[in-house]
Amino acid sequence: MIVAEQKPLQAVLEMLRGHRKVLAVGCGTCVSVCFAGGRKEVGVLASALRMARGLDGEPLQVDETSVQRQCEVEYIEALAGGIDAYDAIVSLGCGVGVQYLADRFPGKRVLPALDTKFMGGPTEAGVWEERCQGCGSCILDRTGGVCPISRCAKQLMNGPCGGSKGGRCEVDAGIPCAWQMIWERMEALGRLDELLEIQPPKDWATSRDGGLRRVVREDLRTPRGDAS
Ligand code: SF4
Ligand code: SF4
Repeated sequence: MIVAEQKPLQAVLEMLRGHRKVLAVGCGTCVSVCFAGGRKEVGVLASALRMARGLDGEPLQVDETSVQRQCEVEYIEALAGGIDAYDAIVSLGCGVGVQYLADRFPGKRVLPALDTKFMGGPTEAGVWEERCQGCGSCILDRTGGVCPISRCAKQLMNGPCGGSKGGRCEVDAGIPCAWQMIWERMEALGRLDELLEIQPPKDWATSRDGGLRRVVREDLRTPRGDAS
């Protein structure tokens, strides 16, 4: 899932300077699961904003709503009816949700209340960790299911650096060395010999450097002019 966390209240207040009536919109998918932007977090943020602005003597009306997914037009369409009543939208979606709202409502300022962090998941109560950087060409089959791109601080592709100690990463002893984990997994799978093969430099063409990426599934596309 996409993991995000709320911006500090002061940062959201700064963005809202000059606005009088805004709609705070939560998202019921990833950011709800990581307790950053679901219905409950919308309520808490809205109350905090009202209170802070009230104390400043500049009252702010913050109405609250949430949609199942901000990253699909079908779900945000439900907001269209009442949107003209607001100066701005405060999105508690990830960066994708913010952009979908801005695209759908081009006449409105859409302000991000969250900082979108990474793709990952929970490891214990209250802790989320990165697991994938969306490189576009997955190599987990060769690394025992551990991603060296997101989990090795140096993104090494051919084994560990010289700094791993006691299974911990030299960059941050608080995180496990990804290559130690890869080695142990491959050993358990009886496939250590595969790790001894030198991997050629990774082709990053499928990653971020070529600009916006797109996935096209021709079998799912609706032919132009066919509304069915
Ligand atoms: S190899 Fe690429 S696609 Fe696979 S988990 Fe790592 S970053 Fe994600
Ligand atoms: S200690 Fe391990 S995880 Fe950290 S940079 Fe070196 S190889 Fe990567």
